[in-house]
Amino acid sequence: MRFSTRAIHAGQKPDPSTGAIMTPVYLTSTYEQETPGTHKGFEYSRTGNPTRTALEQNLAALEGARHGLCFASGLAATDAVLKLLESGDHVLAGDDLYGGTHRIFNQVYRQFGLSFDFVDASNPQNLFDSITEKTRMIWLETPTNPLLKITDIAAVSKFCREQSILLVVDNTFATPYLQQPLELGADIVLHSTTKYLGGHSDVVGGALVTSDDDLNERLAFIQNAVGAIPGPLDCFLTLRGTKTLALRMERHCQNADIVSRWLLDDSRIGEVYYPGLEQHPGHQIAARQMSAPGGMVSFVLADASEQHAREMVSRTEIFTLAESLGGVESLIEHPVSMTHGAIPPEVRAAAGLSDALIRLSVGIEDVEDLVEDLDKAIG
Ligand SMILES: *Cc1c(COP(=O)(O)O)cnc(C)c1O
Repeated sequence: MRFSTRAIHAGQKPDPSTGAIMTPVYLTSTYEQETPGTHKGFEYSRTGNPTRTALEQNLAALEGARHGLCFASGLAATDAVLKLLESGDHVLAGDDLYGGTHRIFNQVYRQFGLSFDFVDASNPQNLFDSITEKTRMIWLETPTNPLLKITDIAAVSKFCREQSILLVVDNTFATPYLQQPLELGADIVLHSTTKYLGGHSDVVGGALVTSDDDLNERLAFIQNAVGAIPGPLDCFLTLRGTKTLALRMERHCQNADIVSRWLLDDSRIGEVYYPGLEQHPGHQIAARQMSAPGGMVSFVLADASEQHAREMVSRTEIFTLAESLGGVESLIEHPVSMTHGAIPPEVRAAAGLSDALIRLSVGIEDVEDLVEDLDKAIG
């Protein structure tokens, strides 16, 4: 089965008892057992719920993985991955990470004895040069957030295999429609399903997929033992989202391409960050490992003024000023004061994250309206 067919059918069959086409929302905490331990595969809804199972199978199928596990949020999924590690272990990560990932690393897990280093992973050599004897995991986002830097996943995974280091790729920005890290050699793929997979800004969730049976078993144990699971209604909403993922991503990419080229040609705009632009440093690797460059675009105004950036993001009418991304509607934000506020200023500066940076999640509206909105808001 091809991608869109899997998106609509994987994990989901008409309900055998009624023929209902849509997977029911199984609002139940527990399940009847015929005799102690004899049941139909479900005992208690923290451990397993049929709506969640449908979503887990669906997401695994989209990433070409053997296993999927769903969590209450993207960060709950991150938390589960970090629980594979032990005190003393070292994690090496890209330096342009989702702010909340940076926060859970530095402000939650450091106190349990894990250590973290952050390097510019757009040059994999920086990762290779920074491993220590304690490095157990490399953590990548590509494209990164918010600078849309690209890391060569195949190059890093080859190195990780040689060194027996686990490679985790946060595939939230790309989605499995555009990029499939497991095929490029990653061990675990993480998603904030809150973003493109859900796609409608109405649900928070996370997921992990892997094709490694042992890793899946350990992660499923953590999922059940810790309990950060999504409820069945959240799983239903996310399943509804994945059915249209391919269509939505096509339009997100098309609109982002037009918006990024319009920004590039406008003299009021300085640097534009979009992997689809030929001058983007990661353009060629993106073209190789992604089927299209995605729907996220960042830029700095030509005057590089933080004040002007704050004014602009407050003036748009179609682009809504809000955190998050990946919904059908276009969003605009100022990372330094919003999504990336948890990252210390010196770390932001070292990663090249300007105080004047503006990030767009380009939605699937009519692109002419989006361009007109930005044009007016720049002022
Ligand atoms: C939003 C996001 C997360 C965290 O996900 P939540 O669902 O908000 O917990 C992790 N990684 C990336 C790239 C994100 O955009």
